[in-house]
Amino acid sequence: MANEIITVNNLVRHYGKVVAVDDVSFNVKEGELFGFLGPNGAGKSTTINVLCTLLRPTAGSASVNGYDVVKQQNAVRLSIGLIFQDPSLDIELTAYENLEFHARIYNVPSELWRPRGESLMKMVDLWDRRNDLVKTYSGGMKRRLEIARGLIHQPKVLFLDEPTIGLDPQSREHIWRYLTNLREQTGITLFLTTHYMQEAERCDRIAIIDHGKLVALDTPAGLKAMVGGDIITLHTADNEQATQQLRDIFGLEPARENGALRLEVEQGESFMPKVIQGLTVPVTSLSMHRPTLEDVFLNLTGRSIREEEASSKDTMRQWARSRGRER
Ligand code: ADP
Repeated sequence: MANEIITVNNLVRHYGKVVAVDDVSFNVKEGELFGFLGPNGAGKSTTINVLCTLLRPTAGSASVNGYDVVKQQNAVRLSIGLIFQDPSLDIELTAYENLEFHARIYNVPSELWRPRGESLMKMVDLWDRRNDLVKTYSGGMKRRLEIARGLIHQPKVLFLDEPTIGLDPQSREHIWRYLTNLREQTGITLFLTTHYMQEAERCDRIAIIDHGKLVALDTPAGLKAMVGGDIITLHTADNEQATQQLRDIFGLEPARENGALRLEVEQGESFMPKVIQGLTVPVTSLSMHRPTLEDVFLNLTGRSIREEEASSKDTMRQWARSRGRER
């Protein structure tokens, strides 16, 4: 069994009266792709910041690569790479100069960082652009450069806070290709936060966090198995009456969701014709899907993870970044 490279025990972090992380415990295994999934404000960044030694915990403890995040901060910092939401590249320098700067901060001798930098820049397809100023790079290129830079001191764990936020789908795919290759080649542990379901699906295990509490931790398949069967969504001419009939005829208790009725049933395909035949209330639309992580989140918290809200945050970030570039 793989060793545990991150351990978190009863971690608590307050900001004044706000309890951002509320008694969270979990472990991450060496080589794992571990995801933190939750809506905005759930406490994902705060947890990651504590693990990266950027914030002190209010209570509880955590270690990374065997080092305590409070008592052995330097050893933790040497063990980790960081890819955070807000780019920390120097845009007035070239890509290669950014790598060099990072290597110097980490005391990596040039005979080591130069060949490493070359192979990392080739991995993220930026070698040919290494001498260009970073301010000429697109958002996706900057993120790729940050990945290469974050690896120059050969960390054991790479922390990625919303690694693809604000990127177009193609750039997202690229980033994932590099991360997948990186894992295969080096066995590095990846710890990421995300509110994108597709991204969470790629993880070996996912911790679902809501209001600072860890509400579930399992593989994507394990989490989805927690939802009882297929999800049926019904639009009807009269939801009150339809609800009553679903109770009386099928013994089911539908949930209300955006003006529709939502049911979990074991065999959706055979249930759908029975609903149409059984209900006297007109059914205006009927659809079925297999459980997703969104359904898991809904089941666990009674709320949806609100992709729309998240995407408006993306738009705001993109806007803020483009303003930053203009300055
Ligand atoms: P997430 O990363 O899941 O979006 P955060 O960890 O950023 O969540 O935030 C968790 C909670 O802590 C939220 O209620 C947020 O408003 C609050 N919070 C985060 N940073 C600060 C801060 N610097 N000062 C006060 N409250 C904060």
